[in-house]
Amino acid sequence: MSPEEKLFHQLHELSMNMWWAWNPSVIKLFRDLDPDGFRASKHNPLKVVKGLSPERVRELAQDAAFRARADRVHSEFHSYVSPNTHTWAQTEAAPLRVRPVAYFSAEFGIHESLPIYSGGLGVLAGDHVKTASDLGVALVAVGLFYRQSYFRQQIDAVGRQHAQYESAQDEYLAATRKQGADGKPVVIEVPLGRERLFAQVWQVNVGRNQLLLLDTDVDGNSDENRKLAARLYFGDQGVRIRQELLLGIGGIRALRAAGIDWSGLHLNEGHSAFATLEYARLRMEETGADFWKVAQDVAQSTVFTTHTPVDAGHDRFPPNLVEEYLEPLRNSLRLSKEEFLGLGRVRPQDAHEALCMTVLAFKMSRYANGVSCLHGRVTRRAWQALWPHHREDEVPVGHITNGVHVRTWLAPAMQELYNRHVGADWGENLPDPKMWARIDSVSDAELWETHRTLKATLVSFVRREAEAQRRRNNHSEELIEAAKTTLDADALTIGFARRFATYKRGNLLFTDMDRLRRLLLDPKRPVQLIFAGKAHPDDQPGKELLRTVYQASLLSDLRSRIVFVEDYDINVARHLVQGVDVWLNTPRRPQEASGTSGQKVLLNGGLNLSILDGWWAEAYDGLNGFAIGNGVCHVSPAEQDKRDLESLYRVLETEVVPLYYDQDEHGVPHGWVARIKRAIRTLGWRFNTDRMVRDYVRECYLPSAGVNSCAMPR
Ligand SMILES: *Cc1c(COP(=O)(O)O)cnc(C)c1O
Repeated sequence: MSPEEKLFHQLHELSMNMWWAWNPSVIKLFRDLDPDGFRASKHNPLKVVKGLSPERVRELAQDAAFRARADRVHSEFHSYVSPNTHTWAQTEAAPLRVRPVAYFSAEFGIHESLPIYSGGLGVLAGDHVKTASDLGVALVAVGLFYRQSYFRQQIDAVGRQHAQYESAQDEYLAATRKQGADGKPVVIEVPLGRERLFAQVWQVNVGRNQLLLLDTDVDGNSDENRKLAARLYFGDQGVRIRQELLLGIGGIRALRAAGIDWSGLHLNEGHSAFATLEYARLRMEETGADFWKVAQDVAQSTVFTTHTPVDAGHDRFPPNLVEEYLEPLRNSLRLSKEEFLGLGRVRPQDAHEALCMTVLAFKMSRYANGVSCLHGRVTRRAWQALWPHHREDEVPVGHITNGVHVRTWLAPAMQELYNRHVGADWGENLPDPKMWARIDSVSDAELWETHRTLKATLVSFVRREAEAQRRRNNHSEELIEAAKTTLDADALTIGFARRFATYKRGNLLFTDMDRLRRLLLDPKRPVQLIFAGKAHPDDQPGKELLRTVYQASLLSDLRSRIVFVEDYDINVARHLVQGVDVWLNTPRRPQEASGTSGQKVLLNGGLNLSILDGWWAEAYDGLNGFAIGNGVCHVSPAEQDKRDLESLYRVLETEVVPLYYDQDEHGVPHGWVARIKRAIRTLGWRFNTDRMVRDYVRECYLPSAGVNSCAMPR
């Protein structure tokens, strides 16, 4: 092979495994191939590599330093995926090597170049899959291939949100058509009532593990079915139930067709609960036993994670719709209509009750959990009726608090700081509190300097985005110019980015504009706000909230202090969480099941300012960030909003701002840095997905695989 061929081959191979997305040295390698092209492609290495001209490849291949870098990361990659490399799971989860866990999720947020996610649920799933790979936990992920993604957000000159859809191009997707044992592409078939739906299966490599994606844009499908999986969370209940049949039933069939035998199922949210029924059908075929018998075996090997206490977040399908699409499956399971519908009902005999995917998932799984301690409690209360013989605290739903995949979210500069002070092997010991305690050995000046650099990077990113957006909206030249100098890299910077849903109260600060002006415009102690987030296209109140915030960001006196960055995605999130001083979170307790964006912030040296809800309710210790309110809920949402607003401003005015601006003659705020260190020391080891996936392995995957990992008392 010539040096050019070798280099091209290495780059191509690296771009075909999403491992690159959590390794800064590989990202840098791809960026250096073609910096503009990398940005223009939304950080898609495959597109950059395929777009390299022969001259450029030759030039790079003649550059000995570049070749050496490529050789190094290429061999790092090979040693990462090699089965001989020691991993945590080799000793702790060996039984899963034989039969992996099948992890089902309606969305996966792995990287912005693979837009098959909408928000937190998907990012959590992506972080879970990456972590399983890092730990060597054998897991096959199953999801849908949304060619047009969720949507891309554009905000017009007056703050209205517009949804843009573009179709992914196969040739630039880091995915291959999955082949079966016979070497032919895997195409599966799902009965939808009297119709048959076809899907082809794509494979995305995520480190050591694979993600299978079902794609309905294939020959043999009606036009409507071709578009069934084009978009995420769209359409009426008919579309939803068909998407969920595809995910659940199609997912099980894809695993079978690919020759993958699983030890158990993990349902990440109820969307995929039909998988348990298809699994039961297979078991009935194999064993000849009846449904009720095999249902117990299926439940024994199924884990269900529920993700929301908000009632509208649970899919419910009316009986006639269920019968329309699931009659063939019901017949194979040899169940009557009422028996079948009863599987998804709180009161099985109630002929009017809809089939709820969450209920089905609870009934068909032996292990169920919420995603924070508080959410576990809220879930036990909300669903107690499913276990009429249990007291509320005995309801068999536990909790495993969410975390984040640290290598994905941590700024390279912070990774280097941890290399220097916490230990070169910090990445292997994330759940170790003793290791994180070493953060105290970092000098305040060094930590602060690193953080300031990251904040400056964020400010340039925000300026660039704001300028481009204003240009597109044909704003005045003055407003476009203003974008270039908006924000001040030394001012206290608060970030808020999440879905614009009413319970998250993205507009809370804006409900008292006088107080907001006093806060932001203080000449000695200025405060600035960066917002981002999408509203669901059908959520009018959510879009209204967004408009309020956006319009405030254009007011002549506030526009240098407030910016709304459009099209919140993993890329925008990464910039924000790596550079802010404070991450604001204002849900109406207890509606935020966990939240994870604040966890991304903490290891990057930002502080959380949050309602005591979700993960923050179990994380806050009085000194490792800031709390809004005291965790008490008022029955009236209006009264609750009033109290939280007062508390939010009081904490900002009396705690956050004074502490930040209490700086020594070199500009180092020692009290503030002490809080950052305390956050890293007390929270870093807990709120990461290494801890989370290890919990799932010990508490759910091994027991459900029939291996009791607990030593029996003798
Ligand atoms: C982390 C993340 C989320 C989830 O954050 P929450 O705190 O749960 O709101 C949503 N969207 C993106 C793009 C993210 O990166």
